[in-house]
Amino acid sequence: MKVIYLDNNATTKVADEAVEAMLPYHGSLYGNPSSMHTFGGQVHAKIEHAREAVAKLINADPSEMIFTSCGTESDNTAIMSALQSDPEKKHVITTRVEHPAVLNFCKTLARRGYDVTFLPVDKSGRLDLDELSSAITDNTAVVSIMYANNETGVIFPVKEIAEIVKSRGILLHTDAVQAVSKIPLDVKKLPVDMISVSGHKIHAAKGVGALYVRKGTRFSPYLIGGHQEKSRRAGTENVASIAGFGKACELAEQYLREEHAKTRLLRDRLEQGLLQSCPDARINGDRENRLPNTTNISFEYVEGEAILLRLNEDNICASSGSACTSGSLEPSHVLRAMGVPFTAIHGSIRFSLSRYNTDEDIDIVLDRVPKIIKELRELSPYGR
Ligand code: PLP
Repeated sequence: MKVIYLDNNATTKVADEAVEAMLPYHGSLYGNPSSMHTFGGQVHAKIEHAREAVAKLINADPSEMIFTSCGTESDNTAIMSALQSDPEKKHVITTRVEHPAVLNFCKTLARRGYDVTFLPVDKSGRLDLDELSSAITDNTAVVSIMYANNETGVIFPVKEIAEIVKSRGILLHTDAVQAVSKIPLDVKKLPVDMISVSGHKIHAAKGVGALYVRKGTRFSPYLIGGHQEKSRRAGTENVASIAGFGKACELAEQYLREEHAKTRLLRDRLEQGLLQSCPDARINGDRENRLPNTTNISFEYVEGEAILLRLNEDNICASSGSACTSGSLEPSHVLRAMGVPFTAIHGSIRFSLSRYNTDEDIDIVLDRVPKIIKELRELSPYGR
């Protein structure tokens, strides 16, 4: 039975072209890219080729890209680097709706004695930029604010944020794991110092990420060891995944415009259809400034997990809250921060699309979901 995959903010299908690009590095081209011999040298050349492709996607210089093992490592590295580069400063500003890769890291920093400000959001998931401005002090080392939210797709105004933060001379990191390849991002127009990217969110394999570090930014490595990545990230590179990551970035660049128009149309049709056919359904998050592939819908008076289980019987993959927390029944910290009512949080489902989704996928979901919601509500203890 065909899988209808609408969980692309959790992870994406690896593009066939990316698989092909990886295969030689899982087979005959096994040399160490740091070796002096030609056999290793050709592997090194592939890494540099991929670096160019990743850099191009955000209009960076290849020398500004550091390969990491994942978005989480990029996030942790960026924040830690800022703190280590200016050890006198002990204050970090972030938001309440970050991915755990930033949020939990910052909570750990707070337990270690750092002063962390977690900025609130309004009911649409938007930040108050005046609050950001007043949170900055002489002790602030870094501001880390995500580009787009993984649960709701809400896009933060990173350009305006950058203007505020940079005018105070403070380092700015943005977790763009969900934004890169879904919306255009150009570091020449965006004065951000560090940007996190993850391969598996953009049709590359798992286990590879990148951190953009603007030229001239003071940088302190997180992983210490060998001289890989110009001594900015030790550890022998995940060559195969890096090769696939490079290919995925080339494809993303190629498809960006047409793909997003198509994905947005599918997402909007899904959303409109569900709102029309399911009573007591609501969209969570700012509908204006949102990723084109994401919709987070609350079906009140039903449990999101029950909806997911029923969808799973039909091979439809979606998510309730972020994939990284969906193993627990903890209500989403993002929706809680937005003040979404309890009954709506528990009935929230995130559908996230990709270029591989079709009209037929949406037709099937539009047929199944209203029936599932109706059946579950008839069984619901809330009596709807
Ligand atoms: N940041 C955001 C916004 C994410 O959505 C994710 C993954 O869901 C991460 C960071 C972590 O990325 P990775 O899974 O590559 O560690």
